[in-house]
Amino acid sequence: MLTIRNLADRWERCRSHPGAVRLLGDVREVGAALLDLFFPVRCAGCGDAGMRAGESRWCQACRESLAWVGSPLCPCCGTPFLDSPASPDHLCGDCLNGAFHFDSARSAVLYGGVVRERIHQLKFGGKLHWTPPLAELLERAWRSDATQQSVDMIVPIPLHIRRLRQRGFNQSALLARELGRRVELPVRLSVLDRTRWTDPQTRLKRNARLENVKGAFEALCPARLEGRSVLLVDDVFTTGTTISECARVLKKAGAAEVHALTAARVMADFHMRKGLEF
Ligand SMILES: [Zn+2]
Ligand SMILES: [Zn+2]
Repeated sequence: MLTIRNLADRWERCRSHPGAVRLLGDVREVGAALLDLFFPVRCAGCGDAGMRAGESRWCQACRESLAWVGSPLCPCCGTPFLDSPASPDHLCGDCLNGAFHFDSARSAVLYGGVVRERIHQLKFGGKLHWTPPLAELLERAWRSDATQQSVDMIVPIPLHIRRLRQRGFNQSALLARELGRRVELPVRLSVLDRTRWTDPQTRLKRNARLENVKGAFEALCPARLEGRSVLLVDDVFTTGTTISECARVLKKAGAAEVHALTAARVMADFHMRKGLEF
């Protein structure tokens, strides 16, 4: 008698037959080739269409031309020492003074050029398709740092509900979700909330920024944070005040460690000297 059960068994036997496996593989390959043909994946940097689905979203030339952040850097806040490339990693002045509440922070690339453009287009132009290439930068930085890999969950920097309504999405949450999917870590959107409206930080100096974000965040569900290690994710690290304030709140609620990861990092002096906007 033909039942759903033995139909499923027959399909399973049929599917696992070597010929069928080959055929399914061929069908998949043809499907991928058709997808490439009609919806070519373009390089997020130069727009080159010679990319294949499932591979890097940056062509090799663009990947190599990105200003990747690397040693020598401060092992705590991750600021690179661009003026002394031969020095070993060492704590920066801010970290010697205990300026930050996070345990470590890392960024993939320096803020500028095409990455700055893509972040702007994502954030202010609603070009959500730039999320995967930017998350790819996060993933590369995450994979190159053992401390970042020791976390239990990813938490995006939250937006105030008013800003969320204006923008329609939280770019940090989009990046966090995509990173979580890539590195197989849970993303918690409900453990941290931005309860107080703050003015945009962009034009504020460091101390004013500190005042501006104080008390802006609230930890929710402390039971989910107790003794856990958190990775805060954001698009840009500017002075680190927002990330540090989030880390303070999460730790107060019981988080054992808080690390941070951003796609890009503003180096104010460097950017000013080079005449780059930030
Ligand atoms: Zn390219
Ligand atoms: Zn530092």
